[in-house]
Amino acid sequence: MYFDKKSYSFLEELLITPSPVGYESGGQKVWRSYVAEYADRVENDAYGSVAGKLEVNSDVVTVMLEAHADEIGMVVQHVSDDGFVTLNRLGGSDSTIARAKRVYIHNKKGRVNGVIGNTAIHLQENKNGGGKQPAWKDIYVDIGVTSREEALKLIQIGDPATYTDEVDMLNDEIITARALDNRIGGFVIAQALKNLKNKRKSLKVNVLALNSVQEEIGGFGARMMSYRYMPDVALVTDVTHATDTPGINDKEHGTVKLGKGPSVQHGGANHPTLVSFIEEVAGRKKIDIQHEATGVRTGTDTDSIFYQRTGIPSALISLPLRYMHSPIETASLSDVKHLIELMTETVLAMEPDQTFSVL
Ligand SMILES: [Zn+2]
Repeated sequence: MYFDKKSYSFLEELLITPSPVGYESGGQKVWRSYVAEYADRVENDAYGSVAGKLEVNSDVVTVMLEAHADEIGMVVQHVSDDGFVTLNRLGGSDSTIARAKRVYIHNKKGRVNGVIGNTAIHLQENKNGGGKQPAWKDIYVDIGVTSREEALKLIQIGDPATYTDEVDMLNDEIITARALDNRIGGFVIAQALKNLKNKRKSLKVNVLALNSVQEEIGGFGARMMSYRYMPDVALVTDVTHATDTPGINDKEHGTVKLGKGPSVQHGGANHPTLVSFIEEVAGRKKIDIQHEATGVRTGTDTDSIFYQRTGIPSALISLPLRYMHSPIETASLSDVKHLIELMTETVLAMEPDQTFSVL
């Protein structure tokens, strides 16, 4: 067991509550009610980013722990005269893996079941299957109706959709689920906040745990909330590509393995002094870490946070993940546990007047 029962059921509830980008309220309500127990105050903004605060006193620096709350998904774009539904993507959803999957279309009252049609292999022009990779416009959802009119009684244009896949364990350590990217990050920062509350006597800085909306379409929630709070330091967590499965060139994409610890990012938005501080904490606490180079952008909320107003020293600590942006995203709970420890210990190591400067 990597976590206690209550933590596991929170993780499971987070993972099974669909929160596609732009429609995150379901997951954010789950996150808010869990975090309320461990924060002095919980606040949210108009778009649904939620922040839990632990306040030591107003004179000390504030450290932000950040993760994004949204997941990729699909949205109803069109309904044909015979009731078939065309989807478009919300964020980076991969159309080439969509066929023959079950989906939920989320309407205002609940959800409608659908299947993404797949023409039988016997009826395909290429009798060996395969064929052209489909784009979203080539894909249709069958919701069991025969007309557009009937379909529009159940759903409307603009309703979001998600795959039906939920959580499973491959063994005691390896978890697989839809939307580990990045509901697992929300879990990590909530658990770190909980740890810090329990160690409040040793805590010398204020803590702001922020679960942001709309990362998958441009890091917008993190931008709004960083501007609002202007923390002194930001520790961001998101998933990164584990490159330890067949067919991935690690010369090109870096060497990151499942179960070998959180991956510390170097370069770009990652503040060098803060990164060294994290490495020092990991060394002292004997937490194994991996390393990745960030060329231009991290592709995470870190890119939205670090340059707000006069600049916020920021660092991204990533969780290795296989099969990103698919309904079978796969991660190691050992990495999750060590990531929580690393975030907790990094905050505990900070002084009331902690600053980070490269000069
Ligand atoms: Zn992500």
